[in-house]
Amino acid sequence: MEKNYDIIIAGGGLSGLYAAVMLSQHFKVLIIDPDTYPRHKMCGEYLSLEIETLLKNIGIDLESLSSKKINNFQFTRNGDHTASTKLPLGGMGISRYTLDFELYKKVIKKATFLKERVTDVKYIKDTFQVAVGHSIYKAKQVMLATGKRSNLDKKLNRDFIKKKSPWLAVKMHYKYDMPNNKVELHAFKGGYAGLSQVENGIVNLCYLAHYESFKNYKEIDLFNKKVLSQNKALQEFFTTAIPQWEKPIAISQISFEQKDPVEGKLIMIGDTAGLIHPLCGNGMAMAIHSAHIACKHVNRFINQEVTRDQMLMNYAMEWKRTFSSRLRYGRWLQEILLREKYSNIAYWMIEKLPFLLPLIIKKTHGKIILP
Ligand SMILES: Cc1cc2nc3c(=O)[nH]c(=O)nc-3n(C[C@H](O)[C@H](O)[C@H](O)COP(=O)(O)OP(=O)(O)OC[C@H]3O[C@@H](n4cnc5c(N)ncnc54)[C@H](O)[C@@H]3O)c2cc1C
Repeated sequence: MEKNYDIIIAGGGLSGLYAAVMLSQHFKVLIIDPDTYPRHKMCGEYLSLEIETLLKNIGIDLESLSSKKINNFQFTRNGDHTASTKLPLGGMGISRYTLDFELYKKVIKKATFLKERVTDVKYIKDTFQVAVGHSIYKAKQVMLATGKRSNLDKKLNRDFIKKKSPWLAVKMHYKYDMPNNKVELHAFKGGYAGLSQVENGIVNLCYLAHYESFKNYKEIDLFNKKVLSQNKALQEFFTTAIPQWEKPIAISQISFEQKDPVEGKLIMIGDTAGLIHPLCGNGMAMAIHSAHIACKHVNRFINQEVTRDQMLMNYAMEWKRTFSSRLRYGRWLQEILLREKYSNIAYWMIEKLPFLLPLIIKKTHGKIILP
């Protein structure tokens, strides 16, 4: 297999796959991921429409993949307190099984895909050396798109990985009757669960829970019964919903610590650069948008229009300008909604001043991005 590339991308989730499609139009690209596609992946699967035109530009038409256009949002606490609103921009219910696979099919037309895990990355004499076990691949630039948490974060000694995180997430597909244009967010003690339909009418349940809340139960079924079901909307869901998989997907140690979009000459995209709280429903769009921004800067560097340091500085600046305030609002929102004393006040305000909810949603989302 060829060992020298213009760009190597570690990680084939949304950000890595999108970057590989874009950059392989002009350059020699290697993308590395241990996954086999299609595959299910932890995610609420509500895709904000701000990146619809970016996907269209590379030949992916969301409307032909899913008819589940979502423009209504409902939030409940206990099932008694409900707030709902129209979504300012709206989104699409689409599974990662389908969306990532569409991108993967585009990738393998022009880039080289290696089904492996990157074990190390070194920058030596103006060249990157990417280790995959005992094999070394070389590139002018490397992009890390390895998601929320990866072996490489440890290897590169990144700051966020040194702190333990108390958050875990669970996802499962169900047969359940709910409107196809609505995304629901149901709060429970120590977390919240999202419900929405994906392309085939199946409902995705995906929740984030604090370990303090989970640790007394340790089993997902029991936790669903004892804790999630205290919210009446979730109780009704678990009574009638029919699971579509033998067991759910579950992950732990989900960190919302601040990260940097550039570290040691490496460009980070997607969750590798920063993870927004899932209740904002904007991580997928941000992953694709950050990859889009990074591709523009990498393009200029490989074409020798800017130096490496200029490219890294320009990307970091644009990333921060675009995403920092969204991440901050997401952090505040999560704090407010999960702390009972704050959430009581927040509820009271949302009930009395209903125009607040769309304003809050706008703060954690961007506008439609043009290619
Ligand atoms: C509970 C939860 C619910 C969410 N719900 C939503 C939602 O409803 N809407 C939304 O927009 N966002 C949501 N998100 C966020 C969204 O899932 C992420 O922001 C998005 O997946 C980020 O994409 P990515 O490309 O950065 O990483 P990922 O999609 O996670 O991809 C990372 C890839 O890197 C690969 N990898 C890891 N290590 C290595 C290595 N060493 N070498 C090679 N490959 C490697 C992995 O195999 C994986 O394929 C949610 C997140 C969570 C945790």
